[in-house]
Amino acid sequence: MTQLQACDLKASYGDFQALYGIDLVLNQGEMLAIIGANGAGKTSLLRALSGTLPAQGRDITLHGRPIGHLPAHEIVALGIAMIPEGRRLFPSLDVEENLLMGAYVGRPGPWSLRSVYRLFPDLMAFRKTPATQLSGGQQQMVAIGRALMSNPEILLCDEVSLGLAPVIVRRVYQAFPEIRRQGVSIILVEQDIRQALSSADRMMCLCEGRVVLQGKAQAFGQEEISRAYFGVD
Ligand code: ATP
Repeated sequence: MTQLQACDLKASYGDFQALYGIDLVLNQGEMLAIIGANGAGKTSLLRALSGTLPAQGRDITLHGRPIGHLPAHEIVALGIAMIPEGRRLFPSLDVEENLLMGAYVGRPGPWSLRSVYRLFPDLMAFRKTPATQLSGGQQQMVAIGRALMSNPEILLCDEVSLGLAPVIVRRVYQAFPEIRRQGVSIILVEQDIRQALSSADRMMCLCEGRVVLQGKAQAFGQEEISRAYFGVD
């Protein structure tokens, strides 16, 4: 069943157009990977879906309801949470305070401090530690936990593996099946194509603001993906 849909989605930064008419469907319970080279428009797409970059036209719907014109805080309240690239934790707050910031929208659901600590037991010992004193991997866990604390139905993840050692990336990715078991759908922007495609159901490859390849995550060979990724005809 279609949960989130964008039709002919366009977005710009001033005169610079970053997205040229993206069509996107996210089905209930699905994990969709968005891949593409630097500057392809992946972050811009997540920002447009989350309301932090104005989408042109009123062309995004959640369960059929238009949301493209809503401000970001209303979109979070409707159940779409974003984990931004670079994590953006509150540096003066400890881990628990950062997590609690995610709960401000007051949406009911399965996620609480207890369930986030169950998902990421490593964080328990750092509850009262300033978030910025944690390792990169632990900070990423806090960022995911903070987004879950808003009890989202859709999680938008921007480059969760960025700057992390492979063993830590695997630890972070191990959380996704459990997050999905709780009914959360996921759109994942990733540079680590192998990791993304091994976890996702479907993939979409962007190049210069357009969708150049999409389908089942395991449907394409490496060469086909590389050509789409680098915009080779
Ligand atoms: P990366 O992997 O480097 O994060 P991306 O695929 O996420 O790349 P975007 O960050 O969405 O790409 O950027 C798409 C295009 O929009 C790029 O050409 C980028 O330079 C431009 N862009 C992004 N943010 C801004 C901004 N705040 N102002 C102007 N142009 C921007």
